[in-house]
Amino acid sequence: MGKASYKVMEIDRWEDEIFYRVSCNCGSADCDMHMTLTLDRKTGYISMLFEKKMLTTCDYDTKPVWIDLIDDSWEETKENIRNWIKNLFIKTKNKLKHTWTIWVHGYLESSADLLMNNERHIESFLEAMEAGKGELNKIFEEYKMEQIVKSEEAAKNKQRESDSIEGLQKGKDSTI
Ligand SMILES: [Zn+2]
Repeated sequence: MGKASYKVMEIDRWEDEIFYRVSCNCGSADCDMHMTLTLDRKTGYISMLFEKKMLTTCDYDTKPVWIDLIDDSWEETKENIRNWIKNLFIKTKNKLKHTWTIWVHGYLESSADLLMNNERHIESFLEAMEAGKGELNKIFEEYKMEQIVKSEEAAKNKQRESDSIEGLQKGKDSTI
């Protein structure tokens, strides 16, 4: 594992996979992205997968409501209550709209973003990718060497076997 990184964290690793959590600039865990680096031992290919939670919300177009019974005047309280009721209608309308879209199209379109807005963040992200790739490459090289050693051993064993068979046969031939 490398040095401490800025907003990019290795969270787990299996034999051929390394898992990272990449934070958004805002720091909210809801914005986090998961990154997985995977090695294919057969070919040595390394793949990179990004996963991120996406939300389709229903509270857009609503007005902010902060009811403060101690500090608010009656006028403000009334305004807040009015907005709260309005919001309820807006949210219900949005929910119905989404439901309708799913019924008609079979899916809801949604998008999510993750922001890296300073150099340190970008650098630690790149470092994590580079380091992970390097480590998986190393694992592949070691695996390849192991395979070579194994196949050499297997070849030697086969040679030994055929030598002994030949020897036996020669022995048989000479006895005849
Ligand atoms: Zn964010």
